[in-house]
Amino acid sequence: MSKLDELYERLGVRKGISAAGSTTMYGGSKLRSEVTEIMIEASTVMLDMDELNKAAGKMIGELTGAESGLVTSGSAGGLLLQACAVIAGDDPKKMSQLPDTEGMNNEIIIQRSQRFPYDQCYRAAGAKFVEIGDGKRCHEWQLEAAFSDKTAAVAYLFSPGTSKLALPLDRVCEIAHERGVPVIVDAASMLPPRENLSKYHKMGADLVIHSGGKGIRGPQGTGLLSGKKNLIDAAFANASPHQFLGRSAKVAKEEIVGILTALHNFVNEDEKAEMDVFKKRSQKVVDAFSETPGLDVELKHDKTDYLTPNASIFFNEEWEGPSAKDVMQRMRTGDKPVFISNLIHPDEIIFDPLNVSDDEVDEVITIIRESMN
Ligand SMILES: *Cc1c(COP(=O)(O)O)cnc(C)c1O
Repeated sequence: MSKLDELYERLGVRKGISAAGSTTMYGGSKLRSEVTEIMIEASTVMLDMDELNKAAGKMIGELTGAESGLVTSGSAGGLLLQACAVIAGDDPKKMSQLPDTEGMNNEIIIQRSQRFPYDQCYRAAGAKFVEIGDGKRCHEWQLEAAFSDKTAAVAYLFSPGTSKLALPLDRVCEIAHERGVPVIVDAASMLPPRENLSKYHKMGADLVIHSGGKGIRGPQGTGLLSGKKNLIDAAFANASPHQFLGRSAKVAKEEIVGILTALHNFVNEDEKAEMDVFKKRSQKVVDAFSETPGLDVELKHDKTDYLTPNASIFFNEEWEGPSAKDVMQRMRTGDKPVFISNLIHPDEIIFDPLNVSDDEVDEVITIIRESMN
């Protein structure tokens, strides 16, 4: 028995399988082995963190097509720093006053359809939301009418399942930039496809956050902030190891080295080959359930909701067994829990192959089948 198995047994923690993509609740993603290796080496090398952070930022800028970048503590930590940067800039007096934003431009405009649980990270820096639109769609005049002399930024979210009737990012950027206001983007879970690393910058975004521990499979606790140099410099000023609000979202030296390695390798990989692997694993699940009455099973892959090939199992009106929710619940109760999710529709379960090895696909199929009885 390995040391880890011994420890988990002593703790009573079960080892499972995550067919739920990069969901943080189930462990995020499996770390790349080359990343683990370089992190071990980096963990005992002492250095100047500013020097490392600035060099990392330069590399992130090059690989994302942005002016500069910064490694953050997850995307959530990156959102906090986005807000710090647009509200306090790099002014030490303002930075030290956060999250009290009295006397500062502290309003962040956000479309109601793009409110999301993580936007609390913006409020943690003292931002006040100005919400626009009706929760589904939003008109340009509503955005135009929302600016005031206290506007700090416009926030924009890309995430599977988000309203497709929201104002498009390029128009939001044009309207905001006419008023000298930056646009800050959360695209935490939008990788792969790799084109999304630079896509939002091309559309005009000023700051973009991507998670390092999701599709890139870097350290689970990292995020990649990229964007305009002046705003990245401001985020850097507010960030750990500096003693301002961002100090609460520390990033360790070995994590920085780890995410740079993961990003470099991710960018240089053959995406088509990766998608073919995902497709093959997903197709196996589709084939296993395609004849089951009451289920519509389909391989899904698109640019908004199913970013990589996934197997969608939809429980239709003829289904007579337990609900999708009950099936998901049963799947995680065994000695070896299998985690699976349904971000898009309540009557669907989605098999995401990202963190399922070829060997584990059959185990997942067996557990799904047992949980449907
Ligand atoms: C996952 C996610 C986050 C948080 O990312 P972490 O890297 O886990 O901190 C923020 N926003 C969205 C839309 C996400 O999907």
